[in-house]
Amino acid sequence: MTEQDVQYEKNEAEVKRIMELAKANYPGANVDKIWRAFMVAETMHRGQLRQSGEPFIIHPIAVAAMLAEMEMDVNCITAGMLHDVVEDTSMTYDDVQAEFGAEIAKLVDGATKLKRIGDTTKEEQQAENLRKMFLAIAEDMRVIVIKLVDRLHNMRTLQYVNTDKQIKKAQETLDVYTPLAHRFGMAKIKWELEDLCFKYLDPEGYASLAAQLSQKRSEREEYIKSIISTVKTAIEAEGFEAHLDGRPKHLFSIKKKMDRQHKPLDQIYDLLAIRVIVDNVAQCYRVLGIIHQLYTPVPHRFKDYIATPKPNMYQSIHTTVIGHGGVAFEAQIRTWDMHNAAELGIAAHWRYKEGGKEERDENAEKKFEWVRKLFDMQKDMDTTDGFMEAFKMDLFTDEVFVFTPKGDVKSLPAGSTPIDFAYAIHSGVGHKMIGARVNGELKPLDYCLQTGDMVQILTSNSPNRAPSRDWLKMVKSSEARTKLRQWFKNECREENIEVGRDMLDRELKRQGYTYQQLFGDEEIVESFLKRNNLRSIEDLMNIIGFGDMTAQKAVSRLKDLYLKKHAESDAKDSDFINKLIDDKAAKSIEKASADGIIVKGVDNCLVHPARCCNPVPGDAIIGYTTRARGVSVHRRDCPNVIAMNRNEANRMIDVRWARGASSVAPHPAEVVIEAIDTGRMLIAVANIINEMSIRMTSINSKNTRDNYQIIHLVVQITDRSALDKLIDKLGAVDGVINVTRTVK
Ligand code: MN
Repeated sequence: MTEQDVQYEKNEAEVKRIMELAKANYPGANVDKIWRAFMVAETMHRGQLRQSGEPFIIHPIAVAAMLAEMEMDVNCITAGMLHDVVEDTSMTYDDVQAEFGAEIAKLVDGATKLKRIGDTTKEEQQAENLRKMFLAIAEDMRVIVIKLVDRLHNMRTLQYVNTDKQIKKAQETLDVYTPLAHRFGMAKIKWELEDLCFKYLDPEGYASLAAQLSQKRSEREEYIKSIISTVKTAIEAEGFEAHLDGRPKHLFSIKKKMDRQHKPLDQIYDLLAIRVIVDNVAQCYRVLGIIHQLYTPVPHRFKDYIATPKPNMYQSIHTTVIGHGGVAFEAQIRTWDMHNAAELGIAAHWRYKEGGKEERDENAEKKFEWVRKLFDMQKDMDTTDGFMEAFKMDLFTDEVFVFTPKGDVKSLPAGSTPIDFAYAIHSGVGHKMIGARVNGELKPLDYCLQTGDMVQILTSNSPNRAPSRDWLKMVKSSEARTKLRQWFKNECREENIEVGRDMLDRELKRQGYTYQQLFGDEEIVESFLKRNNLRSIEDLMNIIGFGDMTAQKAVSRLKDLYLKKHAESDAKDSDFINKLIDDKAAKSIEKASADGIIVKGVDNCLVHPARCCNPVPGDAIIGYTTRARGVSVHRRDCPNVIAMNRNEANRMIDVRWARGASSVAPHPAEVVIEAIDTGRMLIAVANIINEMSIRMTSINSKNTRDNYQIIHLVVQITDRSALDKLIDKLGAVDGVINVTRTVK
């Protein structure tokens, strides 16, 4: 047999072992998929080598094996086997989907990096990849398990790559992956990753600490052994069983503790630690009692994470006590369920449950809700930078738990103030806050919240009450910061727009373009705005003035779009406008269009109401001549028109509603209602519309996280006064906060 054959047989045997494992964990499941995935991956990766010189396929096999050992389900293991085929071979997402179905394809896609596009910087690229990963995780949390296991195998085999790459990979792991492992409660993977990072980032420090630890190892082990036997005997005397062991040491966490407390190794408390695992919560507290009877507790070193779990679901009781000879040691007490959750975190929730069928823990999704929260927040951010900032902040800070007067718990980053708390409740509460009572006492706004504090926010009803810029310096949570920034962005909109406009003008001049050239084409501007999640040119000026986007970036991107499009069409453009003006002079009879709109001096001209502002008869209107589609008619207060009017006066044309336009045809109008969810809102809205005999063509309702209800409706309106009346009536409904007509 050749060396290749030997390797191949070894691979086959390992895949069969994986299948056996999966079958044992999920008896009914179709494990043949794993074999098929192996065949596909083996074929696709054939010829590729790892840095170690081994065939690439050993990496996906190792990833699949680790997933199987964590008792993940068959689809997850299959996706692990395939996790690099889209990134590193000619296989596409569609191929995987056709071969293995949508669920596995999505998991693989979640583990696949984006192809590097165009002129993005490395940082932008990394942020985009993180954003993509977050989206995938929010959709299916198994993606994070695959990503972490993938990274763990790469870190375990890091000795084969060059030093530069070792440092880069280890730093990235420490920056992104270990915090993620922490947040998803996957302590086992986190510790191993951290120790590997420590080893590659600080080889001397690692070696010296390892040497120090091994010096007195047998002495320490003897001591722990005697403690364990004392505690075990006492527990058994109480009539129940417990599993006891010495807690494994992790070099990185010891080092962090030494650095943080500026203490040498022999003064670190939980260097000596025992772990007690029992069957139920009641026994946890009995064990605590037994240990506190045997040994004197160290003050302030007791933490009950069973009563108040960490946000990553970690549950245990921690206490530090003085053992014989005056040596302090730490005890961790937990149930078996808590132990599994502590080691595996989110991964524990896909594990086989008794009863023989695969089921997912519904609560897991809820407990990891912060992922969705972070994801929701980044949708509102205009730039990649903001995303990275929030991402890093939320991952790296520890948290405090604070209570509302009703006893609800909010988790906030350590160092948070009452302002953070107010914004965590609702932005309406934040914007209107004037003070806070903490545990019944008035405290300043920059008071540093402590775990266990009960906080009551005092708000003002005065319409003049508004956030102060100083608050930005006091808040710690990205949620509060985002909401405050949003507020200032909107509040100082006028000034921002002025500043942004100047910056744009200067940049245009610098790059040698006129405003008309880059902002004159509706199609170009629209596609640019859409791509950047903006509604209007004024929005763009606002964020430029506010500092969220540089004028240079905006002009460069617009320029690209302009150059791409304008190669062909300049000539046609001017022809059309000239002809229209000629026609204008020639004709004097005015005729209304089918929509009841008259273009001054022109008839039979193609006219259509603009879809951004949906004008209805009675609205003040103005026309804009487009090249291909005639005249588009906007409301005069439409923000798109305000910008166009200033810069393209030659394209603007007077229009008005024909007499009797209201009887011609109804026009669509979109209305948005913001309300407190009373449970009866949709019925109330429907009743009003019915009473007024208005035709409704679409209604859409959704609830925000804080139980506010947002209802979008499209109604067919023949007259502005009917629309005004409808808005008034809707505004008077109990629970309605705001009713507005939308402009896109
Ligand atoms: Mn990989």
